[in-house]
Amino acid sequence: MNILLTNDDGIYADGIRILANILIENGHKVTITAPDRERSAAGHSITINEPLRAKKIGLDEAPNSNCIKISGTPADCVKLGLEKFVDKKPDLIISGINNGANLGYDVLYSGTVSAAIEAWMLGYTALAVSLAVREEKNFKTGAFYINNLLKKNENILLNEEKMLLNINIPDIVEDKIKGVEITKLGTGQYEDHFEKRVDPMGNDYYWMAGKNKDIYIEGTDVRAVADKKISITPLSLNLTDFTQKRKLNKFLNK
Ligand code: MN
Repeated sequence: MNILLTNDDGIYADGIRILANILIENGHKVTITAPDRERSAAGHSITINEPLRAKKIGLDEAPNSNCIKISGTPADCVKLGLEKFVDKKPDLIISGINNGANLGYDVLYSGTVSAAIEAWMLGYTALAVSLAVREEKNFKTGAFYINNLLKKNENILLNEEKMLLNINIPDIVEDKIKGVEITKLGTGQYEDHFEKRVDPMGNDYYWMAGKNKDIYIEGTDVRAVADKKISITPLSLNLTDFTQKRKLNKFLNK
């Protein structure tokens, strides 16, 4: 397949380089357009008040591939990459492999998921891939899984009907994975608090420090990953609350 690869951890991050390498070794043509630095939690932001710098670089893991580092956000990288840096329309866009899970409400903050959303909005099938990192950082588990997914499901992925899939991989070696579950988004949340510190000049500053308070409901991405399964959540983007819409209609028309 002809694949455009991006991420939010930056073009030099392990996750994207390991995934690019395995895809290229398996015969895929890969173009990388990714941020020149870490942009985690950039959400779906785009750059409009300053220029974007794009520079071709060499990556050992992606020899003979077009690798472009861009001074923008993950969404910028998809937009600019598709317009200026692909020879022909890619079959698929992949964002990742992110260093950290993107479960539940994380998808709203995530640069990884937002890059995939951008691709989907532009008419492509897109995968957001994240490793629920603990200590080991088994990016290869994720990379091998994605490579297999492409091999076994080429017909589905190349279908006219475009899909947006949020994929989370447990951070364990491949043979410890307990299966794949198609899930819904859970209610993974953080108990945010700001640590107040003092800089060397005596000025106060604040640093966000979150504590995870995931709720492990059956059928959710949060639960599947906790159960050592690969979680695949198909996403759609219509945020309309149809129940409230019906109620409001009744109420307002009175
Ligand atoms: Mn990230």
